[in-house]
Amino acid sequence: MDVAAQWAGGVLTINLGAIAANYRLLTQIVRQADGESHAAVCAAAIKADAYGLGASLVAPVLERAGCRDFFVAHLAEGLAIRPAIRDDASSVFVLHGPPPGTARDFHEAGLTPVLNSMEQIAEWRALAKALGHPLAAVLQVDSGMARFGMTAMEVEKLTADPSLLDGISTVLVMSHLACADTPEVASNHSQLAEFRRLSALLPAAKRSLAASSGIFLGPDWHFDLVRPGAALYGVNPTPGRPSPVRSVVRLQARVIQTRTVPKGQAVGYGGYFIAPRESRIALLGIGYGDGFLRSVSNRGTAILPRRSDRPLPVIGRVSMDSLAIDVTDLGDDTVSAGDLIDLIGPHNPLDEVASAAGTIGYELLTDLGGRYHRIYTSE
Ligand SMILES: *Cc1c(COP(=O)(O)O)cnc(C)c1O
Repeated sequence: MDVAAQWAGGVLTINLGAIAANYRLLTQIVRQADGESHAAVCAAAIKADAYGLGASLVAPVLERAGCRDFFVAHLAEGLAIRPAIRDDASSVFVLHGPPPGTARDFHEAGLTPVLNSMEQIAEWRALAKALGHPLAAVLQVDSGMARFGMTAMEVEKLTADPSLLDGISTVLVMSHLACADTPEVASNHSQLAEFRRLSALLPAAKRSLAASSGIFLGPDWHFDLVRPGAALYGVNPTPGRPSPVRSVVRLQARVIQTRTVPKGQAVGYGGYFIAPRESRIALLGIGYGDGFLRSVSNRGTAILPRRSDRPLPVIGRVSMDSLAIDVTDLGDDTVSAGDLIDLIGPHNPLDEVASAAGTIGYELLTDLGGRYHRIYTSE
């Protein structure tokens, strides 16, 4: 290992084998729930650089696990990832659809747009006409989230005038759930009913409604294709219940120095923590400049793996490049410069750290910056 890597402020270990295992697990779940013969296909959301984990490394792993359908958000993400996907027959769907004037770029790069509005439909239809052959696309309808996709009124317009879809070969009709992580919420059922109604008005095609959490609502939500992202990357898709998926990331911070502070000493910016006793503190080389959220100030816990029985509280404000933890309770078995301490790991899982920071695993993952030494494993 070179010296820069060896002394990075933090080490982010990404287990590609766990991502593949999670993909196979989700495939298995839809297969069991739906029955072998009409099981939904499992796609993968790899937007936002595969939730910060590195799409160009994650996509080929998913492809080897059998995935043939990939979702990104932006055209730029689609252009970047297409060459990393080996099978030309695999699809890269771009959720935000074609911005004005970009239909040709989509077509030439082999990207399939998700068409979310009448404008985007017109854009794609015009290119199909100019080329003189049909072009594949996904149609998105809004079933009650009011984010992307055609409203019920727009779908009715498309029904009344089928020429609006001339030259568009609809390969998938999709929608997205607002509250899939809270199964008891009624909107999961009303969105399901509305999706059924709207998709029946559109050209016959495969259908897709569920992302990670939607898979766990049950087979009614699976249709022909499910589109998990978070669950592949170790975020619990069933909050409040034990996670069905394997954890994928471990984040270790390097100890820069330790110091002893007297009782009553204010620690860090704003004097946000006052030592209640003489304390041994360790300064770690990770801060909010690494995407480790400032909201864990005075709240998170770090774990020294050999002493996992003793959670080490984060004290004071998280700085840009560092944070402080209280290691007093380690006694004589203390830490020293160069030691690695888990900020996310087997004893402090991603979802718990996110929750301590007042956010969700999705945000914590996608925030983890480019400053760590990254290790990709495949156990
Ligand atoms: C992000 C996204 C997904 C994946 O969602 P997860 O909750 O991460 O599984 C699927 N579909 C759409 C439309 C999305 O925006």
